[in-house]
Amino acid sequence: MKSKCQICNSEYTRSGMSRHIKNCLGKHFKTSGNGTAKRVFYLHIHATYNQDYFLHILMKENARLEDLDTFLRNIWLECCGHLSAFTYDGYGEDINIKSTISKIFEPGLSLSYMYDFGDTTELTIKNVEIYKGVTEGNKKIQIVSRNADPAVICDECGKKPATVICTECQYEDAGWLCKKCAQNHECDEDMFLPVVNSPRAGACGYTGD
Ligand SMILES: [Zn+2]
Ligand SMILES: [Zn+2]
Ligand SMILES: [Zn+2]
Ligand SMILES: [Zn+2]
Repeated sequence: MKSKCQICNSEYTRSGMSRHIKNCLGKHFKTSGNGTAKRVFYLHIHATYNQDYFLHILMKENARLEDLDTFLRNIWLECCGHLSAFTYDGYGEDINIKSTISKIFEPGLSLSYMYDFGDTTELTIKNVEIYKGVTEGNKKIQIVSRNADPAVICDECGKKPATVICTECQYEDAGWLCKKCAQNHECDEDMFLPVVNSPRAGACGYTGD
């Protein structure tokens, strides 16, 4: 399953992508020193317990954590307006989301992010590097790469890609079902959620819409 680098359009697997993006950004940007030039922060975001769901983004230095929160909700998470939080170690005090990212991140630093404190989706956000430069169109956030659909295989037949998740069965490693197996599945259809390209697939009422 290969994903695309949106800067140069080449395709890589997950680990190849992390290596490639450092090289690719290194060609387009200079590493930032202490000068006054505008900076962009390269962040690698992934689902804490499943690295197949990843995002590589560039963020303007004066953007805030709340901008990142909104971005993550829109692309991966939002179902019913749950609370979210950024922390340094997963359980410490919340970081103020009004903070500008340049005050929080430094290369090598990782934050934890949680969306929904009931059926939680947890992400790890790492600042890989800081470059001199501006994002495309001077946007607050520019996506460099997003994982291609991981195409999870049906838990029942072990052959076809899953299209729905039975929320009754998913905690017993049996809930991801292909179309055919879903039709013969014993649980109520009301318990089904669609398979979507997000680490929140199968959580709460998440449908990706
Ligand atoms: Zn590239
Ligand atoms: Zn929800
Ligand atoms: Zn099946
Ligand atoms: Zn079921």
